[in-house]
Amino acid sequence: MGKQRITDVLKTGKVMVSDGAWGTMLYQKGLQPGECPDEWSLTHPAEVEDIAREYIAAGADMVETNSFGANGYKLAHYGLQDKAAAINEAAARASRLAAGNDRYVIASAGPTGKLLLMGDVTDDDLYACFKEQVTALERGGADAVCIETMSDAGEAIAAIRAAKENTRLEIIATFTFEKTAQGEFRTMMGLSPVEAAGRALAVGADVVGANCGNGMERMVEITKEIRAAFPDAYILIHANAGLPAQVDGKDVFPETPGMMAALVQPLIAAGANIIGGCCGTTPAHIEAIKNAVRNL
Ligand SMILES: [Zn+2]
Repeated sequence: MGKQRITDVLKTGKVMVSDGAWGTMLYQKGLQPGECPDEWSLTHPAEVEDIAREYIAAGADMVETNSFGANGYKLAHYGLQDKAAAINEAAARASRLAAGNDRYVIASAGPTGKLLLMGDVTDDDLYACFKEQVTALERGGADAVCIETMSDAGEAIAAIRAAKENTRLEIIATFTFEKTAQGEFRTMMGLSPVEAAGRALAVGADVVGANCGNGMERMVEITKEIRAAFPDAYILIHANAGLPAQVDGKDVFPETPGMMAALVQPLIAAGANIIGGCCGTTPAHIEAIKNAVRNL
């Protein structure tokens, strides 16, 4: 018998902690602007494993993988589309080594950048692309796939179906929302949190939620909306360290570990089951979130 599935742990009422940002950490380790971050799993496996290790050491129950842009369409920008399988397998392997047997690897799968609505690709194209990615992530040792930063239901559905029909991975699907002038949360393609979660759950996502785009405070509002519509769903939130301010042309994220940790209690009260970070978060943020969860 292996370890419990993530959803079996959540069923007991336990709140789990996920990891934080990867991009910033890769740059800290020497990734150059214009370089393909995902290729680092092949060329710099030790550095990639180190990032996962830092989050595990901070107390994360699960870590993502360096595969956010490792789909064939994104890799084609670097001429690396033929290496998609190898890159994803290596990414999962690095996080697996860091996570050991008792923590979880939730492998990242981000958007392709291709729009169904514009006729760039068909559903079948997206399905095939995600099938290649998720099957490689499973071979590398992932426990789950975290389909994230989604804005289009069609693309998310293609990714969820590809995972559901070709792997045994648990499926997490999170969307990115912005607050409109009318004060409503919508993805870039116009989906509300309830519509997005509903579409994902309908095709078999095990966990739904939101990542990026918002700090903890707005994630509390988004979580409340999803929880009210889906009382039994499992919800994952990967919040940014606040809303970025532009300083010298760079995004600077204002929320400290303590500021994020202070909003853990309201986020759990709103209905979050898994809490982690997105842009601007570091192992220090995750450690503070872990302590806040433990102290509740
Ligand atoms: Zn982000």
